[in-house]
Amino acid sequence: MKYDVIIIGAGPGGIFSAYELVKKNADLKIAVFEAGNPLEKRRCPIDGDKVKSCIGCKTCAIMSGFGGAGAFSDGKYNITNAFGGTLYEHIGRKPAIDLMKYVDEINVSHGGEGTKMYSTAGSKFKKLCMQNQLNLLDASVRHLGTDINYVVLENIYEELKEKVSFFFNCNVDRIEVLEDGYRVHHKGGADECERCVISVGRSGSKWMQEVCKELKIPTLSNRVDLGVRVEIPAEIFSHLTDELYESKIVYRTEKFEDNVRTFCMNPHGIVVNENTNGIVTVNGHSYEDAEKQTENTNFALLVAKHFSEPFKDSNGYGESIARLSNMLGGGVIVQRFGDLIRGRRSNEKRIEEGLVRPTLAATPGDLSLVLPKRIMDGIIEMIYALDKIAPGTANDDTLLYGVEVKFYNMEVEIDENLETRYKGLYVIGDGSGVTHSLSHASASGVHVARHIAEQIG
Ligand SMILES: Cc1cc2nc3c(=O)[nH]c(=O)nc-3n(C[C@H](O)[C@H](O)[C@H](O)COP(=O)(O)OP(=O)(O)OC[C@H]3O[C@@H](n4cnc5c(N)ncnc54)[C@H](O)[C@@H]3O)c2cc1C
Repeated sequence: MKYDVIIIGAGPGGIFSAYELVKKNADLKIAVFEAGNPLEKRRCPIDGDKVKSCIGCKTCAIMSGFGGAGAFSDGKYNITNAFGGTLYEHIGRKPAIDLMKYVDEINVSHGGEGTKMYSTAGSKFKKLCMQNQLNLLDASVRHLGTDINYVVLENIYEELKEKVSFFFNCNVDRIEVLEDGYRVHHKGGADECERCVISVGRSGSKWMQEVCKELKIPTLSNRVDLGVRVEIPAEIFSHLTDELYESKIVYRTEKFEDNVRTFCMNPHGIVVNENTNGIVTVNGHSYEDAEKQTENTNFALLVAKHFSEPFKDSNGYGESIARLSNMLGGGVIVQRFGDLIRGRRSNEKRIEEGLVRPTLAATPGDLSLVLPKRIMDGIIEMIYALDKIAPGTANDDTLLYGVEVKFYNMEVEIDENLETRYKGLYVIGDGSGVTHSLSHASASGVHVARHIAEQIG
């Protein structure tokens, strides 16, 4: 079959490419190949009862399928150039923000009508943070919540399915460059296209690496973020979360002058497992529906680690540390802050007696045996700094889950159209290494779709 455009991956990047292509030119023949399941068939077998931890499914229902890694996420669409990716470096600051706003309009018109947009602009917390050596980054955030995010995806799929050919459980193995386009080899055979948009996200990072190697597309890789997920009673952060929902706060450590930052804040949320290439790490999300909310708030504290020559495998470094926690804990480890400070492991009894009821069944243990001292020290310093703006953060019973790793795909060399050195071959979203968030990934999809529509005329 010959298509005008083949999109690989049905995460936010791929979905918004398809959406905008259809909108710009309804006559285009578009196919989307996705390694995972359609939305309604995505189900993680962990039920906390019969299946307590990750059993390593062939494709991870959390990371793969229609909606990509974003499908069961908290659905926080941050409109900012301050974090979430460096799309603006390719397309410009204003166009990047305009695209993120456009994506927001689509989400709102597809089920997100009742959701709230929060903003740090003019917030009193900026000053409070500064007075305590913390930097609150500027952003607006639409919080869809895991439940509404799902509804939005359902609605977009309903709209697209008549106009776009979706192939699920259809992993793409190889891309062959032809004289007038591309042949995409997948589980079901091979199809051709004039233009190909690769949007394989984090779960496709290894495959993306192979593609770049085979096609000799230059790449860059030198960063991984490591840390823990903090869980506290929601009251402790409520003055911040009620007004801002998500606050991205950065702290510069005294000891090593590293930046530690809060990431992915989930008021009244739950802590969850995440499986990347067979390694279990921790993440979190929360629901808009009050009935599904918990008494806790969770957020990650991450330290960015940049490596220089000759070391090139930053993700390998992160994976090794995550493997260590999996080796010691059989998955994610949980520790009370008080136990960490006293240099002892947590056990079932101490966790049970604590004030914070864990929302994830993790193994009590000792995170100082897992995380490098430099990172652990930075996290401890930041917890004490946060305690000044949100007293109680450094309580003994505060729970730390580890490890949280933010893997960065190697950055693929792409131009201002997000096109590789092959004409008509685009790499977008988290798979490009340029974006690391729902809003940036989605915006990159729209950007490429508009460029393709313009080219086709
Ligand atoms: C639990 C969790 C919570 C998160 N919460 C937030 C949040 O609140 N806000 C935020 O901004 N970001 C959040 N993120 C990150 C966000 O989900 C990603 O940044 C975003 O999904 C990236 O979109 P993408 O389209 O680039 O890639 P992905 O969403 O990863 O989609 C890529 C798709 O490509 C498919 N694929 C991979 N390889 C192949 C192949 N060879 N052939 C065919 N298909 C393939 C995958 O199966 C996947 O479905 C969260 C992530 C997780 C895991």
